Amino acid sequence: MSLPFGHVALIPDLLITGGDVVTMNPDREVLVGGAVAIGGERIVAVGSTSGLRTRWPGVAELDARDCVVTPGMVNAHQHLTGDPLARACIPDGITSDEAVFRWSVPLHAAHRPEDDELSALLACVESLRNGVTTIVEAGTVAHPARVAAAMTRAGVRGTVGAWGWDVGDAPYAAPAGEVLDRLRALTEAYPAGGMVAAAVTLVGHGLASDELLAGAAELAGKAGAVMTMHMSPGPGDVEHYRERSGRRPLAHLAGLGVLGPHLLLAHAVWLDDTEVELLLSSRTAVAYCPWAYLRLGQGVTRAGRHAELYARGGRVALGCDAGNAGDAADILRAAALAAGLARDTALDPAALGAAGAFAMATIRGAEAIGMDGQVGSVEVGKLADLVVHDATGPQWTPRGDVAQQLVWSTDGRSVRDVLVGGRFAVRDGRCVTVDERALRAEAAEASAALLARAGVSIRHNWPQVRSS
Ligand SMILES: [Zn+2]
Repeated sequence: MSLPFGHVALIPDLLITGGDVVTMNPDREVLVGGAVAIGGERIVAVGSTSGLRTRWPGVAELDARDCVVTPGMVNAHQHLTGDPLARACIPDGITSDEAVFRWSVPLHAAHRPEDDELSALLACVESLRNGVTTIVEAGTVAHPARVAAAMTRAGVRGTVGAWGWDVGDAPYAAPAGEVLDRLRALTEAYPAGGMVAAAVTLVGHGLASDELLAGAAELAGKAGAVMTMHMSPGPGDVEHYRERSGRRPLAHLAGLGVLGPHLLLAHAVWLDDTEVELLLSSRTAVAYCPWAYLRLGQGVTRAGRHAELYARGGRVALGCDAGNAGDAADILRAAALAAGLARDTALDPAALGAAGAFAMATIRGAEAIGMDGQVGSVEVGKLADLVVHDATGPQWTPRGDVAQQLVWSTDGRSVRDVLVGGRFAVRDGRCVTVDERALRAEAAEASAALLARAGVSIRHNWPQVRSS
């Protein structure tokens, strides 16, 4: 008998028993009181609790009674550096130009290697505690190896990128050839298929020459890597490309041969009909970060086409963006917002909905980042990336439709246990791969030092009255 994956262990190490297993398999079956058997890093069996116990008596169990077991969630656009140590520090009433040039650029430039690692560790711990098991890192300016080290230490799966650009004079801007060499070296150090793999990552927007855009697409193709970059979160990129080439951004990228299944565009909010068709026909994927557009006022309610892309079979994943944009690294919050925005903008109760939004957070998100063969559903042979949601809280009481409850009623606060590749990353709501108390102290100290080096200080909304 041949198995779909040659290295699936036949005897499991762990049974997760008694929970309602939301499989997200092609039939979207929910096994009420079901069980999942894990052997090594993979799912060995999915079935009834009594059936798996009989088949493998004596195997260790994780009791998931009164719980909902789901696939680990996919966050397709998360900045692991730059913002985590400066969360809630950038004022929220300033223009995006001021936010970028007065805050983000100096903060990125002031990061030391250890800050990149600490930032990433903090963001990974938050993600894991919210049930996110796969992260597409949105781009690290200086020290991607330190970010990869943090992801490995936290025990999260994902991609890491060295943020490249060859236009302008921001830190680490370089000629296209140098940027491509740097990206190529990263794809060699972290090849596709690893727990942490390289993504060919550009800043995007208007900060890449045609040479860099085309070279990056070619490199991604050769390395079998995802290529990712920002595009059109607001109307600015449309104006830039119109001036640059007389075309809209995605028409320009299509002309360069950059669109395709290898490409994951963050945002793609401001699209015209032609660009929607280009995304669909080229199978280009989109990371949809709805909180960021609302937080930064980018016009998603008037321009966003993500629910339409999804409904038409387009590749759309959810993302949480940055600590001063999407803010919480919690894909369930993003899923609720995506569903709500779809309903409200279309004035259509059939738009997206909880089931679609949760698919975006799991199997359709995995498909968008090219990993649906490995993660995104609870199926035999897939990697054992699983979340146990405690369903005893008031937000789960009484129990109704599980898709609605996952998306509308709860968020990351219900997450009790998380396994990534069969290994516990979270147990009883705490990250077990990292000392959270020590991390909090280190982060507070590093944050103060980082803000001082960057020459910025928090502008509090309310007077801070010393009262100790
Ligand atoms: Zn971003």
